[in-house]
Amino acid sequence: MKKHNFSAGPSILPQSVIKDSAAAILNFADMDLSLIEISHRSPQFDAVVVKARQLALELAGLENKGYTALFLQGGASLQFLMSAYNLMPVNGKAAYVDTGAWSSKAIKEAKLLGEVDVVASSKDKGYNYIPKNYTIPADAAYVHITTNNTIFGTQFNDFPDVNVPLVADMSSDIFSKALDFSKFDLIYAGAQKNIGASGTTLVIVKDEILGKTGREIPTLLNYETHIKKDSLFHTPAVFSIYVSMKYLEWVKDLGGVAAIEKINREKAALLYDEIDKNPHFKGFAAAEDRSLMNVTFNLTDESVKERFDKLAADNGIHAIKGHRSVGGYRASIYNAMPIESVQALVDVMKKL
Ligand SMILES: *Cc1c(COP(=O)(O)O)cnc(C)c1O
Repeated sequence: MKKHNFSAGPSILPQSVIKDSAAAILNFADMDLSLIEISHRSPQFDAVVVKARQLALELAGLENKGYTALFLQGGASLQFLMSAYNLMPVNGKAAYVDTGAWSSKAIKEAKLLGEVDVVASSKDKGYNYIPKNYTIPADAAYVHITTNNTIFGTQFNDFPDVNVPLVADMSSDIFSKALDFSKFDLIYAGAQKNIGASGTTLVIVKDEILGKTGREIPTLLNYETHIKKDSLFHTPAVFSIYVSMKYLEWVKDLGGVAAIEKINREKAALLYDEIDKNPHFKGFAAAEDRSLMNVTFNLTDESVKERFDKLAADNGIHAIKGHRSVGGYRASIYNAMPIESVQALVDVMKKL
């Protein structure tokens, strides 16, 4: 049966990326060797890293603007700690906006290194909105936000105007819509939501913000280590980086971030319209903060749950169960999801 993959992460990849990656496992770059059995220092693999890093900067519009793109290990979760390690001064303080579970985890790690000022939180309403109109203390070394809240289905539309480095966890919405990426000084994103397979994390950092904390940073946690070695300080996640390179190429071939935004907006509108029209469903997130990537919704009457779940399963709808902390349903409609799959879900909702 054709499956429509709404998984929150690891998540759907373009079919062409899956096919190319599978082929590279068997025979990479006409070497008659597998991608996963050759040296990461071979010229053939080096070309992959160079290309992946270049595409990331190109899609962000950050080429030749003092930024470096890295593909690191440890997931976005390690970036919670690593970003703070590299930016929190000794005896310093940083501002964090708390928009859900992932923000809270970032806050927990930053507290190991300095004072954390949670300048705004949407916890009071179960994280169903993005806080607005907060002030950043003048002595904050940086501000950290989570641009898309994967679990709750909320997304920033406007970003705080700050005159200190702006750090963003973009794990679940990187390259999903056109942005002025130069507003950000540090961006990180686990690849497995919107730009690849698990095992690597894209980091885009503005070089000039580094080296100012006055603290000693463990070698592998220091962005400068990876910048100096062109993202090949140690053995990288070769397969995952290859998948990301192919994924970013796919985004570029589609016409780049603005082109993909148009499709993403059509997909999201299709699904939110049905949620708003259909008396069986109600949306979870505040309307103005709804995510283009993770659409969260609940049933208005739980007695139809079994029928809806069966209809969904019978029609190939995969992984729409909501996160355990929110309940209900979550349809993740990342970059790689075709609009036909969103239509398939809407058709099932109409049948209920
Ligand atoms: C999934 C996710 C993470 C965690 O990513 P890992 O790569 O599993 O560590 C962090 N932040 C956000 C917003 C996420 O969606």
